[in-house]
Amino acid sequence: MSTAPRRLIVAIDGPAGAGKSTLARALARALGYTYVDSGAMYRVVGLAARARGLAATDAEALAALIDGLDFALRPEPAGQRVFLSGRDVTEELRTPAVGEWASRVAALPAVRTRLVERQRRLGEAGGVVMDGRDIGTVVFPEADCKFFVTASAAERARRRAREIGAPEAELGAIQRDIEARDRRDSERALAPLRAAADAVTIDTTGSTAEEVLEQVLARVAERAKA
Ligand code: C5P
Repeated sequence: MSTAPRRLIVAIDGPAGAGKSTLARALARALGYTYVDSGAMYRVVGLAARARGLAATDAEALAALIDGLDFALRPEPAGQRVFLSGRDVTEELRTPAVGEWASRVAALPAVRTRLVERQRRLGEAGGVVMDGRDIGTVVFPEADCKFFVTASAAERARRRAREIGAPEAELGAIQRDIEARDRRDSERALAPLRAAADAVTIDTTGSTAEEVLEQVLARVAERAKA
């Protein structure tokens, strides 16, 4: 008699530009799981808040905004696409300005409670790879597999520059932005960026995406047997 393999919850956390989403996407593809980029939710809120001229500190207005927000994360073979009021905003979400807004609104409890609830709903049935800052610590503390992915700040800036097609001359500014965002994400009172006690930490500096994927797949296969 054959039993269907267990569909796990895989949590991937780490700072900006460490290679989380590349890894999470490839891992989800290899396992036939759904990839959920939780950062996109904070970015959607940041984008909508900025468009409506709200203050990033106005918890009440942001809570009302989220409660009325029509957005959807749609997993597709090439990655996750994000829709806001039916409009595909996937590319718009990737700009540094929206990242900055996302990180500001993400410090507010009223925002986090609402988005964490949606993230849990998306992942609770298993068969999911979710990446973010607090997936292994807060969203799914019981996740089957947890990874904390890091890389040096210089390497992360280079990757982010490549991702957004920025010229070499902007590297310094990109690195400063990344470091400022990491500081804010790590120092906030609620759900700060940190590795869960039972997470496997992977430093991707100097490794190829394939090498990292192989390492993680081996670990997941081990857990799936347990
Ligand atoms: O991962 P990404 O860079 O798209 O995330 C944008 C911002 O959203 C982060 O800087 C962080 O402040 C916030 N975030 C978060 N918790 C998550 C995912 C993202 O606070 N699980």
